[in-house]
Parts: sequence; C-alpha cells; structure tokens
Amino acid sequence: MLMLASSVHASSGCIGLMYHHVADNTPASTTISVDLFRQHLAYLAENQHSVIDLKTLESHLKNKTEFPEKCVFITFDDGYADVYLNALPLLKQHNFPSTIFLPTQNIGEQSVNYMNHAQIQHAEKEMNVTFAGHSHTHTSFVKLNKEEIEQELKLSEQKLHKLSQSPHSAIAYPYGEYSQTAMDLLKTQNRLGFGQHSGVVSTDSVYQALPRFPMSNLYGRMKNFALKVNTLAFPIEHYSPQDPSVMAENPPTLEISFKENTDFNPSQLNCFVAGQTPPIIVWNNRTVRITAQDALPKGRTKYNCTAPSQTQRGRYYWFSQQFLN
Ligand SMILES: [Zn+2]
Repeated sequence: MLMLASSVHASSGCIGLMYHHVADNTPASTTISVDLFRQHLAYLAENQHSVIDLKTLESHLKNKTEFPEKCVFITFDDGYADVYLNALPLLKQHNFPSTIFLPTQNIGEQSVNYMNHAQIQHAEKEMNVTFAGHSHTHTSFVKLNKEEIEQELKLSEQKLHKLSQSPHSAIAYPYGEYSQTAMDLLKTQNRLGFGQHSGVVSTDSVYQALPRFPMSNLYGRMKNFALKVNTLAFPIEHYSPQDPSVMAENPPTLEISFKENTDFNPSQLNCFVAGQTPPIIVWNNRTVRITAQDALPKGRTKYNCTAPSQTQRGRYYWFSQQFLN
C-alpha cells in the first residue's frame, strides 16, 4: 500500500488564467482561437480542476485557508464583445465561473468591440461572471502618481457600479504594470491587484502583485497549458524587490527566501530571462539571488524560475517577477 505524500512541502495555491480576445480574427498576441479555448475548458473538466470565482479566491487569501486541489480561476481583461459572444457560452456549458476586468472608459453603448451594458448585466445574471476594475483610461499605473492612480480607481469604481450589480473590488493593472505606489494604495484599501506575470497565487503571494498565466494561441498551446495549470506555488518567505519599476542596478538582482521545503531540489532551480542566456544563480542556505547576465532592455522583462516537484511527477513550481525599465 502506498503512503500518501506529506502535504507540508507545497503551499496550497490557485492558478490564474488571463485571456483577452477569444476569437479567430483579432490581434495575434492577445488572441486565443475559439477552438483552443474550447480545448482548455475541456481539459479542465476532464482532469477535474476546481474552477473558483474571484470571491472564493479572495476569501481563501484573506482567511489564509487551503485552496481546493487543482484550483484554477479564469479571467479576461478589457471586456471585449468577442468574450461575451464566444467564451461565455462555452464556460456556461461547463458551469465554470469567470471574471472580466473592465477598463471603464471604453465600456459603454457606442463601441461594438466592447461589451455593452445589456451584455454585462446578462453575463452577471446568467453566466456566473464577476466584474471588476481594470482602471478607467487603461493608462499604465507606472506612468501615474499617487493622486492620478487614486483618480483612476475612483472613476473606475463609480462607473463599475453603474454597469454591474455587485462589482468586485479587485483590480487588474493595465498591461499588468504596477509600482510600489499602486501596490501601497490598493493595500490601504484592502484590495487585490493582479498582474500579467506567470506563477501561482497562494497565501505566500504579495496580494497586490498576484500572478496570472497569460494565455494566447502562442502561450496557450495544449502542452503548455497542461504544464501551467498543474504548476505549484513555491513556499516563499520573502522576495525582493517587490516593486518592478525600481531598478537601482541594471541588470537587477531578484532575491527569494524560501520556507523550509523538501519537495524541490535547490540545484534543480532553473531560471530564465527572455532573450538572454540563463541568469547567474547564487544560493545561500534557503535564499537565492538571481541576476541576469546582460542589462535589461527598455520595457517589460520577466525573471521566471521553475523547479520540478520531487514527489509529483511532471509538476513544477513556478515563480516570476516582472521588471520595468
Ligand atoms: Zn488591458
């Protein structure tokens, strides 16, 4: 008889999926085809993943309770009409809840590209959709000062309350970009903040810098998808820097301190920086320092780190930190 593996090694977590367009004729980098999206949902159903809504996710985070096994949450940024037309009926077939983050200035009665008020109300009532904010003007928060971010949040909230019966207070940052100022502001308001960097949401996450796996035709191919929805949350004590927009040195050093853990082998920690040779990794007890070999280019760059689970074959721990230059 097999002994059950001890559960102390992994921090319980939930995998966020982030989509934009679900269509066959929209910009490639932010689009997943209807057929591939259908395959994603079929995979989640066949493999008995627990798809939870935003309220449930928040409750686990705030009460620090265990997530269900194989936990997943599904999100869409920008509120495109094609999501309403193509994605929501498929989600409904599976009874999967989802969240749509709306940039409120774009949402109205005029544009056919975005969901209109009637569609939002129908989605909320009949399709188990939660609506939440994606700022008002969809300007990167990194370009805004504290007062401007406050204004974005306020305008967004006012309009969301007109569009939706009970909008959620969480925010998806425009372009997934956030600063310490934005994180601090959300924290004082007790609100969750979502980025667009890979990784697993857990009670070890910084709640104003929550990861979601971006999904598109390129990043959402079935093999990649299966890998990502089965990732595990690294047990993290602390990491720095938490603010992606401050780069005292270029390339920056990411420092991660892990909680005691026997399920991954430090020598198997594998990190990568897009477009570069692998970064330099230096361990000191349970703390690792990761530094890219070359200066980071203008714009967004992510450090991604993975390690295979020792007890669960084919499953990987995954952590990612974004830097903005
Ligand atoms: Zn957006």
